[in-house]
Amino acid sequence: MRVPALKGICLYLPAFRIEKGLIASQYMQRARGTRTFRWFDEDECTMAIEASMGVVEGTGVDTIGCVIYAAEKGPYRRKSTASVIADVLGLSTDTLTVDITGSERVSAEGLLVAKRICEATGQEVLVTGGFCEHGEPGSDEDIHGGDAGWAMVVGEGGGIVLEEFWVARANVFVKWERGEDTYFLPDGFTVPFELLPTAAAILNRAIEKSGASKVVIGTSSNRLPSQLKRKLGDRNITLFHHDSTTTGVLGSASLPFAMADAVEKCEPGESIVMLAPGDGALAITAKSSDPDNVKIVRINAENPVVFDLYGLYRKIVTYSFEEADTSPIAYWRDAQRIFQLRGGKCGNCGKVFYPYSDLCPSCGFTPVRETVPLSREGRVFTYTTDHITPSPIGKVTHAVVELEGGGRIFVQMTDSLEEMVEIGAPVKLVIRRIHSGGGIENYGWKARMVK
Ligand SMILES: [Zn+2]
Repeated sequence: MRVPALKGICLYLPAFRIEKGLIASQYMQRARGTRTFRWFDEDECTMAIEASMGVVEGTGVDTIGCVIYAAEKGPYRRKSTASVIADVLGLSTDTLTVDITGSERVSAEGLLVAKRICEATGQEVLVTGGFCEHGEPGSDEDIHGGDAGWAMVVGEGGGIVLEEFWVARANVFVKWERGEDTYFLPDGFTVPFELLPTAAAILNRAIEKSGASKVVIGTSSNRLPSQLKRKLGDRNITLFHHDSTTTGVLGSASLPFAMADAVEKCEPGESIVMLAPGDGALAITAKSSDPDNVKIVRINAENPVVFDLYGLYRKIVTYSFEEADTSPIAYWRDAQRIFQLRGGKCGNCGKVFYPYSDLCPSCGFTPVRETVPLSREGRVFTYTTDHITPSPIGKVTHAVVELEGGGRIFVQMTDSLEEMVEIGAPVKLVIRRIHSGGGIENYGWKARMVK
């Protein structure tokens, strides 16, 4: 009998925040706190990738047999986002990739599917997602939304053991449209009529069955947790939910953020209920067996760059790349070489180089047959700033990065407004949007400074 458990959580926030009040004041409204916002080359997919790379850092990907992308939406209408993530992580082509979309409880659904796959196969499963919300200028989404990515690893041995689940469907339509739909429950919105009794009934049942003393609620609503707390009567329960004051509302990403807080305060042997409302509610009960062994990684949680220019913020989040000359075929041809970041290794002199060619650039040996995965960390070898390449901030810095363990790569720098790049400075490679073309999003490697 296999015992699937939560073994790691990585939470990614973009490096940038803006005062909600600054956005609201443009539209004669008021708001408190800050929200996170994505850089112009980020989206749900790239934020999920950052979190995925964070959660496997140090442990590697050899044991991962499945990638689940679980988010309200993804970049493609008819292409799997999980496949892109599996490619970037360098997973083999027989890795199972699954996309789950829909309501705000999608992250819990992903966790549940991961538990079942681990039970059936013994494989480790990476569950990941991203959330971006901006909407029309002055809308609730614009003011109160937030952007984030997350990733969790489910596998055997220790951690937080995933036990049973309860689910009830209720058709909760907060806001639904065809096409560019959103599922959003910001402050001030009333919790939909059917949601509260459904969620409360399931939560009560899960607590009775498990004897849990901690409840993790994944919701965009700041009201729902207190409403649920009242429905629990005088039970001695500690509630965890993601406070959106500094990040903005994080939709389905709220659950992993709240879960990380709960795990950090968890004693061995304690039971936890994870509750995810959304078109009804889903509850998963878990028992903490070895909470100190759950790896928790937070990226950009501290020292954010706070914007004070509304116009520039709007320009960045609404920026659309110029249509570049590309095609799905070119993308397909290059995807593996680009995403997996493999370079050539000379059989004669041992030189590692990128991009791969069958002629060694150092000693001229041919044919070079061996390819090796390159490091995602390195140092700036040289750089230049270009004011012609289109960008919402008016310039693009290109750098040659000397990677640890060999190989030099020519990339754009990202995540900074100012000229912070210095020769010799440590950088990290990240997957970002490069341009759009032929109706597809093109992703590729860029570099950001290591703070
Ligand atoms: Zn050589």
